[in-house]
Amino acid sequence: MSVPAVRGESSRRRGPALDVVVVGGGMVGAATALAMARAGFATALVEARAPAPWSAKDEVDLRVVGLAPSSVALLDDLDVWTSIRASRAGPYAHMHVWDAATGAAIHFDAADEGRDLLGYIVENNLVQWRLWEALEPAGVRRICPAQVSGFEVLEDRVQLNLDGAEAPILSARLLVAADGAGSPLRALAGIETQGRDYAQRGVVAHVSTERPHEGTAWQRFLDTGPLALLPLADGRSSIVWSLPEAQAQRVMALDDEAFLHELGVASDFRLGRMLCATARAAFPLRLQLAKSYQAERFVLLGDAAHAVHPLAGQGVNLGLRDVAQLRDVLVEAREIGVDIAAPQVLRRYARRQRSADTLDALSFDALARIYGWTAPPLVAARGLGVRLLDRLSPLKRRLAQHASGF
Ligand SMILES: Cc1cc2nc3c(=O)[nH]c(=O)nc-3n(C[C@H](O)[C@H](O)[C@H](O)COP(=O)(O)OP(=O)(O)OC[C@H]3O[C@@H](n4cnc5c(N)ncnc54)[C@H](O)[C@@H]3O)c2cc1C
Repeated sequence: MSVPAVRGESSRRRGPALDVVVVGGGMVGAATALAMARAGFATALVEARAPAPWSAKDEVDLRVVGLAPSSVALLDDLDVWTSIRASRAGPYAHMHVWDAATGAAIHFDAADEGRDLLGYIVENNLVQWRLWEALEPAGVRRICPAQVSGFEVLEDRVQLNLDGAEAPILSARLLVAADGAGSPLRALAGIETQGRDYAQRGVVAHVSTERPHEGTAWQRFLDTGPLALLPLADGRSSIVWSLPEAQAQRVMALDDEAFLHELGVASDFRLGRMLCATARAAFPLRLQLAKSYQAERFVLLGDAAHAVHPLAGQGVNLGLRDVAQLRDVLVEAREIGVDIAAPQVLRRYARRQRSADTLDALSFDALARIYGWTAPPLVAARGLGVRLLDRLSPLKRRLAQHASGF
């Protein structure tokens, strides 16, 4: 099904042909557009840059995410999980987190939660590509490459001005911004953000290790920041090494031998020696929350709404949680015959998600601060706390359930 663009005065009188226009075709925006189309809404997606096709012959993308069971369930519901799983997804059933200063550790097992797995490590571009491929067959009108240069809210619709598209004007009842942490649309809507710069970078690479990863996500907290070793489908591990800016720059400049040695020391040789590494990349780390997720006929989701520290590996999981919630709220509004972009409808989505995301973002931030403590009494208290938590089964279970997204 292809949905025509709406132009001119006559269409102003007719009402918009589209229900939803999503801006941003990253993992979250593409999932939103697909979820909307599968729920029967006439949907378009505007994306500035077409994603590169994913191929099994290509090297594993440097950017990977740990998909929680709730995210897998949504992708399955959207009919893309089977092909992602069959392509290249690293399942993990255990998570082991330990403190470099005290040795205190906490261990999570899927079996304790009555599950087979805690999640999957998957390449960002694989998830994005499988969603992207599914859009047109599901009836989503893909407008790419194109950028939104401005938008105007009218009585029954929002009208977007597009740069680079065949039709320069597009209108829909609801505008959904999933255009990433720097969200130009958030700025156009006049929504401010709050948060802090961690003055850290996440250094990422894939490494082969002397010992197998055992289907375990390993994370060691050092006073410089956490180092995660995430199990890839091909037996290697993907690292996310959060380091203060200057140290990240130094580590990025090391030759392979020195890098592998420092990484081995930082990981306490938990997987033995580091044998070989791919090229590296480094990403700035910020805590950023939009002060509101909603404006007139406008909502934010994904990183446009919230960017969090990667230590809990939850960024995209929070974004996919937004997608499921927005879809459910809009479907409910349609069922009772209310405009899907009515303020009270958007408020239901925005208030609930913002408070849930704020709680999560602040918890991850608190963890980052607690693991940054260096004063001996505080470090000892932290060690005691972690040991206690590992033994307090009900609390530990609640943590694990929350991380699974349910
Ligand atoms: C080092 C690191 C490790 C991470 N690890 C994890 C992890 O283990 N688990 C996890 O869940 N998350 C993780 N994350 C977070 C995760 O990568 C992000 O939450 C996720 O990629 C955000 O997706 P998004 O679709 O919201 O935004 P993006 O991926 O930023 O997509 C935004 C899209 O909008 C497009 N766009 C922007 N402006 C416009 C415009 N004006 N018009 C049209 N299109 C536009 C862009 O081209 C882009 O495609 C990590 C992040 C980092 C930095």
